[in-house]
Amino acid sequence: MSWWNYARKPSVLEQRRRAVQESQRLAKRLAKTGRKPSGVVIDGRAIARTFWGKAWCDNLESYRDFEYRLPRGRSYVRNGAVLDLDIRAGRITAVVCGTSLYDVEIKIKSVAAPRWVRMKTQCSGEIGSLIELLEGRLSERVLQIITHREQGLFPKPAEIEMACSCPDWATMCKHVAAVMYGVGARFDRQPELLFELRKVDHQELIAQATNLEVSRRSGRKTLAGEDLGSVFGIELAEAPRAPPARVKKPGGKGRSPTRRKKRARQAAR
Ligand SMILES: [Zn+2]
Repeated sequence: MSWWNYARKPSVLEQRRRAVQESQRLAKRLAKTGRKPSGVVIDGRAIARTFWGKAWCDNLESYRDFEYRLPRGRSYVRNGAVLDLDIRAGRITAVVCGTSLYDVEIKIKSVAAPRWVRMKTQCSGEIGSLIELLEGRLSERVLQIITHREQGLFPKPAEIEMACSCPDWATMCKHVAAVMYGVGARFDRQPELLFELRKVDHQELIAQATNLEVSRRSGRKTLAGEDLGSVFGIELAEAPRAPPARVKKPGGKGRSPTRRKKRARQAAR
C-alpha cells in the first residue's frame, strides 16, 4: 500500500515528493505525444505577484461560492500539485496530483461583445502602450474598468463551468481550486492569456487609445491654430485683431464702427 492511501492527511513534504514523482511520470506519458507538461511552480508564499495574477486571485476570492474549497486549492498549488496547465480561448485544462492524477477542465464564457465594446470605449486614450498594459502599469480609472465586478474582464461564477475526474461531489473540488490559483500564477508570466481565455484581443485596447490620441492631437492643432501657422506659413496671430470684414477697402464704405466708439470719436472732436 502506498503512503497516500493512508487515512491521515499527507505532510507537505510528502505531497511535494509525490507531485515530483507524478510529474516525471506525466512527462514520460506526454513525451509520446510530443508535448512537455507545463506545471505550475510557486516560489515562496505568494501565488501571484503581478497586477494580472493578483487581480485574478482577488476575483476568485471575492465570491462566497468558492470560499470553502479555496484554502485546499492554495495548499495544493503551492505544493506543486498542478502538474500540467493549458490555457486557451474559453478553456482551461489541467492535470492535478491528488490521491490519484485527476483531469480538470474549466470552461469560461467569452466576454460579451457589448461589454467588450464598452470597456474599449472607456479605456480609450488611457493606455499608453502594450507593455504598460501587460505589466499592469495602468491608471486608477483603467484598473477600475478592468476589475469591475459586473462589467470587467474577470469572470463571475455564472460564467465558469468546472469539471474534475475525481469523485468529489462539489462543483469546485480542491483540484479545480488549485487549477484556478495556478491560472493566476500563469497570468503573472503570460497576462495576455487572460485576454485569450476571454476571447478578446488585448491589442484593441491599445488601438483604441492610439486612434483617440491621434484625433485629440489633430483636434488641438485645428482649434488652437498654433500649428496651422507653421503648416501654411502665415501669421495667424494677427488675424483676430484685423478681420477682413473690418478693413476699410479703398473707395468702399467698410463696416461702420460700434456705436460707443463712434460716440467717443464725436466727443473728441
Ligand atoms: Zn477534483
